[in-house]
Amino acid sequence: MSWWQIGEGYGTQSFGGELRTDLVDCGFCGETGNFDFESRLKKENSVGKVLHYDTLKCEQCGNLTSVFWGNGSSGLQRFHQVPWLQKTTKWPSHWPDDVGRYWLQAQRSVEASNWDAAALMARSAVQLTLRHQHAEGRSLYEEINDLGSKAILPPIMVEWAHEVRVLGNENAHPTLGAAPTTDRDAKAVVEFLTMLLKIVFDLPNQIDDHRDSRKKE
Ligand SMILES: [Zn+2]
Repeated sequence: MSWWQIGEGYGTQSFGGELRTDLVDCGFCGETGNFDFESRLKKENSVGKVLHYDTLKCEQCGNLTSVFWGNGSSGLQRFHQVPWLQKTTKWPSHWPDDVGRYWLQAQRSVEASNWDAAALMARSAVQLTLRHQHAEGRSLYEEINDLGSKAILPPIMVEWAHEVRVLGNENAHPTLGAAPTTDRDAKAVVEFLTMLLKIVFDLPNQIDDHRDSRKKE
């Protein structure tokens, strides 16, 4: 695939064709959508497709972020930026806020090597996500199996869940002298959570976006 294909068939709504600076985070201070354009360049090919090379200046901290971007023919936009934010500060707006908050804390605990906290928050986020999907059962595994039987989760996710040790730990309360969570176990449950969120929240949202853009063609 060529960079000239950017935004074709996949992206976010561009609303009129200008760069969605409201979705760009400053790579230094994390401020979102608060930029001035420092420089703007574009290249157009023979069929009128335009690639943009913009440099944005953060109004809050003054540092520069380069954004390469383009719009697809159906009005979708994709961008890539350098530098990007090295720590996680937010979650996608189409996730429920409670799930997003737990996911964020799990993610940041991984970034800070706080493995017990990461595992606990990720496990809680999985639990919340299952409840948002009206899963039934007396344990996490039963709830996951339930969503599998309702075809909300594919069989491979149900299988995978049983390999994630932290999900099987029904006693999420602190116990005396409990062994610390290993980085491996913590990362495994965060990885499972990330995939779960993709399937349950991102995929339907992406399909909705795609349908919307088809309607506008
Ligand atoms: Zn900044």
